[in-house]
Parts: sequence; C-alpha cells; structure tokens
Amino acid sequence: MTLHAFLSRRVVTPEGVRPAAVVVHGEQIREVIAPERMPAGAAEIEDFGDAAILPGLVDSHVHINDPGRADWEGFETATRAAAAGGITLLVDMPLNCLPATSTVAALEAKREAAQGQCRVDWLAWGGVVADNQREIEPLAEAGAAGFKCFLVDPGIDGFTMVTEQQLRAALPHVARAGLPLLVHAELPGPIDAAAANLTDADWSLYETYLRSRPEEAEVAAIRLLLVLCREYKFRLHIVHLSASKALPELRAARSQGLPVSVETCPHYLRLTAEMIPKGATLFKCAPPIRGPENCERLWQGLRDGTIDFVTTDHSPCPPEMKRLAEGNFRSAWGGIASLSVALPVMHTEARKRGFALSDIARWMAEGPAKLAGCEMRKGRIAEGYDADLVVFDPDSEFVVSADRLHYHHPVSPYLGEKLRGVVKATYLRGRLVFQGGEFPGEPAGRECRARTGRAPRLV
Ligand SMILES: [Zn+2]
Repeated sequence: MTLHAFLSRRVVTPEGVRPAAVVVHGEQIREVIAPERMPAGAAEIEDFGDAAILPGLVDSHVHINDPGRADWEGFETATRAAAAGGITLLVDMPLNCLPATSTVAALEAKREAAQGQCRVDWLAWGGVVADNQREIEPLAEAGAAGFKCFLVDPGIDGFTMVTEQQLRAALPHVARAGLPLLVHAELPGPIDAAAANLTDADWSLYETYLRSRPEEAEVAAIRLLLVLCREYKFRLHIVHLSASKALPELRAARSQGLPVSVETCPHYLRLTAEMIPKGATLFKCAPPIRGPENCERLWQGLRDGTIDFVTTDHSPCPPEMKRLAEGNFRSAWGGIASLSVALPVMHTEARKRGFALSDIARWMAEGPAKLAGCEMRKGRIAEGYDADLVVFDPDSEFVVSADRLHYHHPVSPYLGEKLRGVVKATYLRGRLVFQGGEFPGEPAGRECRARTGRAPRLV
C-alpha cells in the first residue's frame, strides 16, 4: 500500500506545534517525522505549508436525533457538518432520537439508521432514565461508550429525568459497567423557586430566561453529584458547565482524587448575556449563557485544568421551534447548533487570550476522546493513531454564512459574525472527506467501538 505524507510547518502533536511530516499508511499514522527525514520518492506528498495540521476533533456531546427525528437533524447532515468543522468523531447523546438510546434494542435501531450515512466516525452514549436500571450493563456490553442522565426535565418526549432516588438505583450498575456517567447538572428546586418570581415577567427579554435558571441550580446539582461520586465510586462527568460558581467545589473534588471531569461549550466561552438582543431565541440553551465575568472565569477554569475540555452540545431543531417571530424565551426550543463553526469560534476566542493550537487540540480532540474511551486511536497526531487530520488556516478570517453550516437547518446565533481560522480540509482515517465546501467520496464513517464488551474499571 502506498504511503502518504502530510507536511506542514505547524503540525499540532502532543509534544507541541512543530514542522513535521505525518506519514500515513492506509488508515493509520505510521510515524511523525522531521520533514527533512522524509526519503525522496517514498510517499505521495501533500505540502500544506503554513496551514496547521490538527488532529481530527472529537465532539463527545452531539444530538444527532436519528432515528425518529431526522427532520431535526440526522446522521447524514450532522456528520457532513462535522467534517466541514474538522470533527472526525461524534458521540451521540441518547435523547431527541426515537427511540431514545436507553435500551439495547434502541442502540441497534441507531446502528441501522447510521448505516451508510456517515461522513465521519461516531459512537453512542446510552441513557440512564427513571426506570431502565436493568438496561445499563447490557448497554455497556453492547458497545455504548458510557451514559447520560438529566437531573432536571429535559423537555422532550421519550427521555425522563432521574430523581436522586432513581439515580441511586442506577449508580451501582454504572459503577460495575466501569463507564462514565455524563450528567446534565441542574436541579429543579432552584429553577422552580426562580420561576415562581417570574410569572409576570417579560419573556421576550433574555434577562428573564437567565433569571429562570440561576447558577444555584447547577451548584446544587454538582454538590449532590460529588456526594454520590464519593459514595458509589463511579466515573462522573459534568456536561456543559455554565456556572463558574461551581468551579471551586469541582477543583477541590479533583484535588482529592475523585474521578470527575468537566466540559464547557463554545457558546459559554464566546457569548455573554448582555450581547443577546430582545427576542433572539437562537441564543437559548440550558444551562443559560451568563454574564461576562462568568465567561472569563470559565476561561480561567480551562486554563487551570478544572475544566477538562470543550464540546459543542450541537442541539438543532426545526427553525419554527425557535419561535423567532414571537421571540419568547419561555416557549422556544433550547439548543445551539454549531458543529461546523465550533473550531473557528474557539480559535478566535482562545487566541485573544493567549492560548495555542495545542490547547485547542487538547480541549477539542484529546480530552473528549479520553472520555469516550477512544484515546488510544483518536484525538492525537501520533504513531498508531487513526489518520484523522484537519488542515486549518489559523490566520484567515471569514464571516459565518448559512452555506457554511452544512447541518440540516442552517440557523445559528453566529450568522454574520467574523471568525478567525478556516478549515481547509478534513481527512478521516487517511481519506479526504471535506475540502473547500465539498464532500468527496461515499460516506465512509463507521461506529468507533474502542471499548468492546465489559470495559476495565476506571475507578
Ligand atoms: Zn446536550
């Protein structure tokens, strides 16, 4: 089989950003060497010059909605948008699809829906819901990467929240499975209390929505989860942290060696409550986007390692569910779709704060790959890893337009924004899957089951 070499003056490796040749054999990286060590005529060479080569990104928090709600999004459109955004592995959340992925049969239905549709690789999280404790270990054995649950009503049919009691019934199974439990950490108590004071409020104002989901809801949920983590010894992951007020307790728990990890999302790191115009429900998500000081404290959490990584929480819906004409933050669907622009959004903001491309690779490739159990194959440019590569021009700017979004309904709070950094090409296991707005070849993405059968215990 022919060798291919991808050359750049800025290859982002775990050891730093340096000039290198990434030598690819078939679907894997054979070695990463200094360009001058590349023997003449040994390989087909692509020289990307000053454009950076990043590892294919891993997004461990995506709502693909397929099967059942492919009219919201689906494997075909979500994986296309991912390829355009430099993401080569998506891990799908167990809700919004029908059936929800809370049984082995539902996981099989998902596999069927994904067949032949995917332009990047994928994996599934299983659901922990009110009454599926008996499905948890079978889901792990069937290849779910881990589990997701909600401590507050997710607001969608087919997926129930768990009370503390129901969660306690599930946790021994989660701990035995040895896989992480991802939790939407908001408790209903503080949210209900806030809502009681907002009955006559103006719901076209973002401020009203923000007041309806106070930081205390996140802080209280995280406090409860840390208690349970100590008691049941499971691997805990907090999804989409928005409330920086929770950071000190998370930092303390980590320093005591609790197996807890944390993610946040590009929208909490770029957008702030003050920027959101009246009625602009495209910005609605849960937990909410908060104030500018909160945003900077989240950046500080990334800097000091309390927040491990960044995921999109790509959560699309048909545009009419955003109720744009009405502009009502109470009734609009909450969720921000961002697969194709997450990398430029993060790069634009990270660069302003002095971070490097290697930080982005750690937050958007290596960290999520580890959570999903794929860290031996995905998320790094290194020998033996899948040849998932992103050619990224960090110096060019562009304005976000609908034709660059590529997911099913091209709506976004980022439309019209100027961002720095352009994805020029994406390679999935050595194969070109995106270049200059085009998606060459047949869909070649597949399920990336790094953990098979019962996984080794992590805790
Ligand atoms: Zn989500």
